[in-house]
Amino acid sequence: MNAIREDMALASHDFGHIVESRPLGVVRPRSGGTVREIVSFAGARGLPVTARGCGHAPYGQGQAHGGYVVDMGGLDEVRCVPGDRTLVAGAGATWGEVVRAALAEGLAPPVLPDHLGASVGGVLSTGGFGGSSHRRGLVADWVRELEVVTGAGERLVCSPERHPDLFGAVLAGLGQCALIVRATLRLVPAPVRVRRYRLYHEDPAGFFTDQRRLARDGRFSHVAGQARPALGGIWRYMIEAVTPYDGGLPRTDGLLTRDDLLTGDDLLIGDLDHDRDTEEIEDLSYAGYLHRLDRDERLLRATGEWDRPHPWLTLLLPEAAASAFVPAVLAEAGQQDLRCCGVVQLRPLCGSVFRAPLLRRPPGELLCLLSLMRTAPPTDPGTVQRMVAANRGLYERARAVGGVLHPVSALPMTPEDWRVHFGPDWAGFARVKEQYDPRHILTMGYGLWA
Ligand SMILES: Cc1cc2nc3c(=O)[nH]c(=O)nc-3n(C[C@H](O)[C@H](O)[C@H](O)COP(=O)(O)OP(=O)(O)OC[C@H]3O[C@@H](n4cnc5c(N)ncnc54)[C@H](O)[C@@H]3O)c2cc1C
Repeated sequence: MNAIREDMALASHDFGHIVESRPLGVVRPRSGGTVREIVSFAGARGLPVTARGCGHAPYGQGQAHGGYVVDMGGLDEVRCVPGDRTLVAGAGATWGEVVRAALAEGLAPPVLPDHLGASVGGVLSTGGFGGSSHRRGLVADWVRELEVVTGAGERLVCSPERHPDLFGAVLAGLGQCALIVRATLRLVPAPVRVRRYRLYHEDPAGFFTDQRRLARDGRFSHVAGQARPALGGIWRYMIEAVTPYDGGLPRTDGLLTRDDLLTGDDLLIGDLDHDRDTEEIEDLSYAGYLHRLDRDERLLRATGEWDRPHPWLTLLLPEAAASAFVPAVLAEAGQQDLRCCGVVQLRPLCGSVFRAPLLRRPPGELLCLLSLMRTAPPTDPGTVQRMVAANRGLYERARAVGGVLHPVSALPMTPEDWRVHFGPDWAGFARVKEQYDPRHILTMGYGLWA
């Protein structure tokens, strides 16, 4: 009985700690067949059903007000098939579990989210950005096949060859047409070690020029960035760039030999505009690099920050607009809480590498993913609501310069907002929704449909 109460309490919340809604029940299936039974049962009664992976949604997107939350944690098998360079993962497995099994065979998914604590299903349903996204697209772009349960209660296998319309509507499809039960992921050989460069810029213009260059020329396997608060009320910008370092030397497509030891770093970063006196260069195991956020998570849990409200906002901006938009936003009085309680992420991206049809992105080749990952005071709902309202204001300003929302964000969206968000693809998305979830019972927390 206590366990049921705990499950219900957990499923009423998420990482955002802003939206709270009580489901009728929480079910923890151990097979795709049981997921199908739950969806069919709820569908016959017109009750909402939502999958819950690891609960990292920021704004109720994984809740099921008055319906059933399907806790995917029991579907956590992970099986690497090295000969085929694939890995089969249950939707409830975490990316940490995927990484462990793949690295044991010298392999890894080509793109991984920075934080490995989310579930396979949760990340595939939102798309998944990672350090290698500038070259390799979304985590979801590397799925070979999915086993799903549709809102109509059908258990189907889909891929680019089988039910391609469903496959395209599930990847980055916000759980609207089907729940993911199992995914077959493509793998690539993993480096054993990597060299990580942290390059600091005082001048945002130099930072954006360098990010643009790195996104375009692909000299690093992984590139990310942050704006960090500095003394005097200013922001300092940091590029984190990573290259495989297997043979004891940074590689630039085989151009380097052992004799180049002294010039290897120069070849990679010598032409960039950062402050050479403060650059940091560190060698890590690839596993250590992939798990780089584990320590931060432990720290945030220990201080209690992990359990505070998180009114996060993530926007995809045309790169040309980002270099003016980001410094202007960070200078505003309303954003100064980010200096003490938050992280500002800036990820350079190339539009042409993304394949999932439902990922919205601005037109143009060079993009910037801006994430304002703030933590709000735990006992001040008024402040949290002001932050959510500010997210809305920022979202509208981003739209005015050609930006789009990444739906892993805390802000209310109306069906009309979603129609605008999906633009010319809305009608096609609505048609696939009608086919696979005709009663509109799946993942209603996003508020897509009236
Ligand atoms: C600290 C932190 C760091 C993050 N870093 C990154 C990052 O680097 N890159 C990135 O892309 N994202 C990142 N995120 C966002 C995170 O990956 C997404 O919010 C992801 O959707 C979370 O999945 P989950 O299973 O943990 O969450 P949940 O809240 O359980 O699920 C999230 C959404 O996915 C749906 N869903 C879950 N499982 C399924 C399923 N099996 N089938 C269909 N729908 C499903 C849920 O219904 C919900 O709408 C980060 C989040 C946090 C908290």
